[in-house]
Formats: sequence, C-alpha cells, structure tokens
Amino acid sequence: MLDTQLFTRLLDLPRPWRVDHVALDTDQQRIDVGLAHRPNASFRCPECGRRAPVYDHVPARSWRHLDHGGFRTWLHAQIPRIACPDHGIRRVSVPWALPGSRFTIAFERHAIDVLLEADILGSTRLLRISWDQAWNLMERAVARGFRAKKRRVIARLGVDEKAVAKRHRYVTLVCDLDRGTVEYIGDDRKQASLDAYYQSLSKKQRAGIEAVAMDMWEPFIASTVAYVPDGRAKIVFDRFHVMKHMLDAVDQVRKGEHRQLQAQGDETLKRTKYLWLYSRENLPEKSREKFAALRALHLKTGRAWAIKESLRDLWEYRRKGWALRHWRHWYFWATHSRLPPVVKVARMIRDHLDNVLTYFDHRITNATSEGLNSKIQTIKKTPMGSGIGVI
Ligand SMILES: [Zn+2]
Repeated sequence: MLDTQLFTRLLDLPRPWRVDHVALDTDQQRIDVGLAHRPNASFRCPECGRRAPVYDHVPARSWRHLDHGGFRTWLHAQIPRIACPDHGIRRVSVPWALPGSRFTIAFERHAIDVLLEADILGSTRLLRISWDQAWNLMERAVARGFRAKKRRVIARLGVDEKAVAKRHRYVTLVCDLDRGTVEYIGDDRKQASLDAYYQSLSKKQRAGIEAVAMDMWEPFIASTVAYVPDGRAKIVFDRFHVMKHMLDAVDQVRKGEHRQLQAQGDETLKRTKYLWLYSRENLPEKSREKFAALRALHLKTGRAWAIKESLRDLWEYRRKGWALRHWRHWYFWATHSRLPPVVKVARMIRDHLDNVLTYFDHRITNATSEGLNSKIQTIKKTPMGSGIGVI
C-alpha cells in the first residue's frame, strides 16, 4: 500500500480531500502529510451552506496531528476560499480541524484525555506541546462547553484554585457542585479571575446562586460579595479546604520537631510524614502498630495530630449550635497548644468562622480532592453542536 493511501485511510478524509504526499524525516522523527482537494471541487459557504466553486487559497497552514510510531505528525494544506453570492469571500471549514486551531480534532481529543490523567505540566511533556498550547486547548474545551450550555441557573457553586505549573502559576475553576461540571476556567487566582465568571452571568443567574464553596481566600470572597446578592451569607469555607490548612500545620510541626530530634541523633520521626496526615480510620492496617508506638511517645507532632483529628468532628454535628460548642472547646485547646503553626490556623479559622459554620445552612463541600480530572471529563462530553466538532 502506498503511504498516501495509508494516510488517506488513517485520516478518513471525506471528499473532495485526499492525501497528496507524505514525507518521513527519520532524523527529526517527524512525518509531514500534505493534503489537497480534487481540482474543480466546490465547497460550502461556512455561513449559509451554499455550494460555490473555489475562489482562491489562503497560504498553506499546518496542524499538529496524532503521533505515528513515536514520530510527531503534521498535516499541511492550503484552505480554499469561496465566493458566496450572499456572504462574499469566505474561508471554508476543513473536516480535520476546528476553525482557528493549530491541532487536528483527533489530537485535541487525545490531548483532553491526557489532561484528564495528568496535570498541565505533565501533559505538556507527554504531548510534546508548550504550556501555552495545553492551556489554550483547555480553554477552548471550556469555551465550547460554555457555548453549548443553556443559560441555566446554577444554585451551588464550588470555586477553587489549581496550581498548574511548578512556579506558582494558578487557574481559577468554577464548578457546578450538583452536576460536577466545570463551568469556567480563568487565568490566575485574583479577584478579576472570578469576577469574569460572575460578569458572564445574567442578573437572574446571579440571583439564583444559593451557596458558594471555597477556600478562605480574600480575592474570591471579595468577588462573590460584590456580584452575588447577599453573597456574604452564601459563602461556605468548606471542610476540604479548612482541613487542608490544618494538615499543613501538622506537617510543619512534624518537620520542626524532626529537625530538633535529628540534631540529637534521634530519627524517631523519619519517614512518618504520611502517618500523621491520615485520618484515624484510614490509617493502613500495616502501619497501626508503628503509629500507636509513636503516639505513646507524647511528641509535639502527636499533639498536633490529635488537634487535627478533633477539628474533623466539627462537621459531624447535625446542628449549628452543637458545632459551635465543639468549636469553642477546640479553639481553646488549639490556641493553648504552644504549637505555633496550629495556633495560626486556629486563628485563621476563627477569623472566618461565620462562613465555616454556614456549612450547616447549605451543607456543601468542594469535592476538589477528586481534582480537575472528573470535571474536565464532563467538558469533554459536552457536545458543541452538530457536525464533526464534538470533542
Ligand atoms: Zn453564504
């Protein structure tokens, strides 16, 4: 089989498109596939669908396609323009790529799959694309989801930030907590990052927001208060984020104590990091004995751990009044622990307590432990309309 025939099959090109030539470069490990249409072909106006003959071509363009045998593969073609009697000179749409994309649809689909499984940085390595390209792919997927969705009211939102690269680069995610879908991805984690989402909503949609789960992060708080009617009462600093701060505090106590002990040649806390982060009931069976022995030593880390475990109980109460009583005891204990990282987190929670306890009004939490993954999955499944462009 000729390589042009092979690629015609692989690409499954509809008429009048065909593979014109294939070039293999083993040094560069790349394959370049030239596409062309049959002479005298006619194309549809992208506006009205009316057929018209080719008027001229725009200069050749390239699209990154799926790798073949580890070789990076590009498609190349000149896109025809037609002269529509109603719409004038128009560039036609091509079956292998979405308008404006530098990637084929097959590549975009694969890239979203990879983005599901890895973070953006990892994806850039696996896909051999730049950070900007990965980011752009994700944004486009979200934008398509946006366009396809009806303007419905989303009652319970989760706002979260996600670090997307090693050097403190963040994105803001807005999720529909009831459906588990990503509604919005914004650059950075500033007030403007979230403002842009709220600004995209109608007055009715903003009024329909009943609760917003988030971390104790001032820019998100300010944005929600500014845009959501009665926003202050609707913010819930959710369990997941509060506990994350507490886990960090436990880990800081462990690090400090480990350093002190090591200076005296004591390796008691070596390789125990994760033991202290588990919740009591999730501690692996095989570590139980070791952990019980550590607990018996009355370490500072053990005290921080016990305070952390007690904080978890806050959300187990059925009534706000009971939770508040538990809180008062806990706060006294934590602030008298003489463990600076623990004291710091206790004060942080105290400063935000009203909106921690709104949990008992709304009972929502950000299921962020599942990560971006399940949510991007939903984006991927959102059809963008009819035709070939469903990613
Ligand atoms: Zn037309």
